[in-house]
Amino acid sequence: MGSYHGGIRRTWAARLAAAVLVAAAPILSWADSPRTVQVELTCGAEVFRGRVLAHNAQEVWLELASGRLKQVAAGDVASFRKTDEPFRPISAAELASQLREELGSAFEVRITGRSVVAARQGTARTYAALIDETARAFEHYTSVRGLSAARDFPLAAVVFPNRESFAHAAKADGVTVSSTLRGYYHPVSNRVLLFEETAETAQGMNGADRHQLFAMSAQGTISGSLHDTIVHEATHQLAFNAGLHHRIGPTPTWVAEGLATLFEVDAVRESGPQVTRARRVHAARLAAYRDGRRRAPKATLHDFIARDDMFQTMPVEAYGEAWALSFYLSETRGREYVAYLRAVARRPPLEKYTAEQRLSDFHTVSGPDLRQFEAGYRRFIDGLGGS
Ligand SMILES: [Zn+2]
Repeated sequence: MGSYHGGIRRTWAARLAAAVLVAAAPILSWADSPRTVQVELTCGAEVFRGRVLAHNAQEVWLELASGRLKQVAAGDVASFRKTDEPFRPISAAELASQLREELGSAFEVRITGRSVVAARQGTARTYAALIDETARAFEHYTSVRGLSAARDFPLAAVVFPNRESFAHAAKADGVTVSSTLRGYYHPVSNRVLLFEETAETAQGMNGADRHQLFAMSAQGTISGSLHDTIVHEATHQLAFNAGLHHRIGPTPTWVAEGLATLFEVDAVRESGPQVTRARRVHAARLAAYRDGRRRAPKATLHDFIARDDMFQTMPVEAYGEAWALSFYLSETRGREYVAYLRAVARRPPLEKYTAEQRLSDFHTVSGPDLRQFEAGYRRFIDGLGGS
């Protein structure tokens, strides 16, 4: 995510005027106020209303009622005020009419619980039910681990009929669609975008050439099926909306992908006492983890936590390692794991997250001796069976 927003930030910085520092100061105090406070920023002819998500001397990030994020250069803010009305997130019904207007009659829009899905006529209900089921499983998972998650916004997903229309919409999000991308969650739009498969695109899938386009947006499903992609991307959307990741903060790739891959397993979403640990194991991710150990036996957990490099050099194996580490934490210290995710999410969102800080934060869940923790972790994963 860093490279994605970094360029924008430098541009704003260059336009910084001294007066801005004065103008931005009161917003600072509002940012810490209850999440119900709404502010109104006037920038030239434009007026934006929303909740302050982050800001510094150069930029202000607002969460709009629609769930979309809006970045405003602090230097462009001519005036601002706190509105009389509190911040009110869009309702599912309002979001549905917005999607109908945007997409036209070729799509139908269906609501199930918090899930609002636009898709080809006759298909939206099934997808909405799957996302709603994932949402309920996610909420159960976090609540039993001591987190009462925020759930302000409805969960928007658009399933395009084919790759071409998906690629066209992705372009508007600034996302370039590679031949292997199946869908993504975009933290700025707060939407999941997907497309229905054709035999041709399904054939093109193979494990070795999957790459992440930018953090948190990647495909990364093992089967490549639309069902698995929906669950994976919906989990990203849920985690960002629940505050387990910050929507503009520098979330380590393994943290976001590890959580999403945990939920790919049906048994994890079912939970309940009848579900054994063996059923929660993700066989394909475990196999990818083991391939990674074979290919790079000297790779250390220290490096994996400090940097995202492995997602570039060995992406499939990196997803495997992210799953394995998240599975170990989730299975052996669930409350600490969720607390760690929250701690990462609470980092100052517009500051760099250095390797040292990443390691230091991880100590809250690993204890001070990372080598000892790693030995226990590798032993646990080796003991999961399979080959
Ligand atoms: Zn992902």
